[in-house]
Amino acid sequence: MNAQQKLSSLISGMLLVSLLGCIGQGKTGYYNLQAMVQAVDANKIYIPLAVIGSGPAGISAAMYGANAGMPTVVFEGNKPGGLLTETTYVENWPGIKSTRGPVIMETIKDQAQGFGVLFVNDSIDSVDFAQWPFVLHTELGHTYHALSVVIATGASPSVLSVPGEQEYWGVGGVNTCAVCHAPLYKGLHVAVVGGGDSAIEEAIQLSSYAKQVTILVRKGTMRASDRMQKLLSGYPNITVRYYVEVQKINGDGNNITGVQLYNHETKSTEDMVLDGLFLAIGHDPNTKLFKGQVPLDAQGYIEPIGRTQCTTIPGVFAAGEVTDKVYRQAGISAGQGSIAGIDAANFLKELGFNALIEQTLKPYLFTTQRAEKKNVVTVVQNMDEWEEKVVRSTLPVIVDFYADYCPSCMQMLPAFQAAAQQFEGKVSFVKIDTETATDVAEKMYVLRVPTMLIMKNGQVAARYNETMTFKELVEFVQKFVS
Ligand SMILES: Cc1cc2nc3c(=O)[nH]c(=O)nc-3n(C[C@H](O)[C@H](O)[C@H](O)COP(=O)(O)OP(=O)(O)OC[C@H]3O[C@@H](n4cnc5c(N)ncnc54)[C@H](O)[C@@H]3O)c2cc1C
Repeated sequence: MNAQQKLSSLISGMLLVSLLGCIGQGKTGYYNLQAMVQAVDANKIYIPLAVIGSGPAGISAAMYGANAGMPTVVFEGNKPGGLLTETTYVENWPGIKSTRGPVIMETIKDQAQGFGVLFVNDSIDSVDFAQWPFVLHTELGHTYHALSVVIATGASPSVLSVPGEQEYWGVGGVNTCAVCHAPLYKGLHVAVVGGGDSAIEEAIQLSSYAKQVTILVRKGTMRASDRMQKLLSGYPNITVRYYVEVQKINGDGNNITGVQLYNHETKSTEDMVLDGLFLAIGHDPNTKLFKGQVPLDAQGYIEPIGRTQCTTIPGVFAAGEVTDKVYRQAGISAGQGSIAGIDAANFLKELGFNALIEQTLKPYLFTTQRAEKKNVVTVVQNMDEWEEKVVRSTLPVIVDFYADYCPSCMQMLPAFQAAAQQFEGKVSFVKIDTETATDVAEKMYVLRVPTMLIMKNGQVAARYNETMTFKELVEFVQKFVS
């Protein structure tokens, strides 16, 4: 039986399981843990519970898995901490009145590490769920063999791809979540981009706070349902403008001040003054790599079975926005992640995974080696340290100017640390908090964060102002290592 046939037989065999939920998935006899342990391959690295994604769903799943005694590894992906790290203040996270999104995610990560969860700063490139243990290939070229997997890769909000969008994303006033941020726009004028049901939902949510809400629709009609469109008549502060397309987002360097619109009817452009812009133009579930591996619905979402987080592939679970096109909230993702972690741990227990098996597999399990690598990033706090550690360095130096309040900066720090380990001895990595070392930031003309400088012989060899993934950072640095 080839891999595809095996996968099909697994899927059809799981119809019964679909009816029962995933209770007993580990007992079905599809996988034989004892046989696997006896034939263990010393060249392979095994992971009892592999979690793909480090947003609220992924980390919660990992925490529950590890707490149930399962050695657990989280693959953080290109967005360590997930979407919540892109926002400033979160007002609806249970237990904390108001705190910054990145702080919530750092705290959960810290809590998970306390349970023994290991975090890997790498992304999964491809998977093979027709084989068991499941095969995971990573962006950095590693292959791992997982006894169970939780998919928590989230969904990416669709964007306009217009000038100013990246610059003012999140903190600067371009948002995708009215439920989260409506109270910040009390008495102000905001616009919602989109013509579907969710654009109307966002507008209604905002209308309780904002003085004026304008829905910007590219075509001459909305594709929202009649029922939703009728609701609009009950909200006098919501207006709809048709035939208008956002061409550019204007701002003052910190916050948006409005948008430039192109009017398809009059074929002219105009500026609209605004305090905030909400995008409601759809979400793409991050499931491309699971196509053909796990059943996906027409929009590419994974549909878990019943009230569980199991998929039809025994041992593969899914949680968070990768399964959710309705609620899209951090607390809900965390709840689903917690269920997935419990489901995965139960699956492993039913399979026969216990302390004895763990002990036998120990030499072949993913180790803490990578996670425990020493910190090789140097901190510079003032001009004297800048002169000593950067200007007089005999190695090329890559300098990351960051600030605590900047979500994308915080997101990049793990990738920066991982790259520093990769280039140890060849390139020196320095990080500078622009709010502490103000003199250095001023001297080096750092006007925004993140700013990345490559310094060679005390001179600036390159400057970069965007957030980089680990892969992009490695490619960027590689150009300067001869
Ligand atoms: C600007 C903004 C503000 C928000 N504010 C709030 C708020 O105030 N309150 C609230 O409740 N919700 C808020 N949300 C929504 C909230 O962030 C999401 O509901 C939540 O983060 C979804 O969690 P998740 O774990 O499902 O996915 P995500 O948080 O999207 O995490 C997905 C994870 O998967 C990883 N990943 C993706 N592909 C791969 C791969 N191939 N390999 C490995 N890893 C991968 C990513 O790196 C990431 O870590 C906000 C969202 C945005 C965009």
